[in-house]
Formats: sequence, C-alpha cells, structure tokens
Amino acid sequence: MEAKTYKLNDVVEMKKQHPCGTNAWKIIRLGADIRIKCTGCQHSVLIPRREFEKKLKKVLIEAPEQ
Ligand SMILES: [Zn+2]
Repeated sequence: MEAKTYKLNDVVEMKKQHPCGTNAWKIIRLGADIRIKCTGCQHSVLIPRREFEKKLKKVLIEAPEQ
C-alpha cells in the first residue's frame, strides 16, 4: 500500500466527515500533533499524528511547494 503523503496547507478528506456536512480539512499545523481546520465551518481540531494518518482518506488539494 502506498504511503500517504501530506504537508502543511494541504486540504484533505477524512474517513468521517464533520457534523457540519463538510469533508475537506486544511492542515494548519504539522508536528507531533496535527491541527486541521474544517473548510466548511472553520472549526479546528488537534489530533495526534498517528490518529490523523489512520483517519486520513486522501489529499484533495495539494498546497503549492514553498
Ligand atoms: Zn465543519
């Protein structure tokens, strides 16, 4: 299975959508914990990297290289 790659400012789809009905999250902080922000309602959550990788479905929009 291909390893998932993601980086800061990517917009990702998770296995479970946010209760607001949106399933597009922007990665706004990358560290041991990852903060993602719902692009629908701007709600943000902080989750451990391992959990994030488990819940990540795919990258929707790749952020441009910095
Ligand atoms: Zn939301």
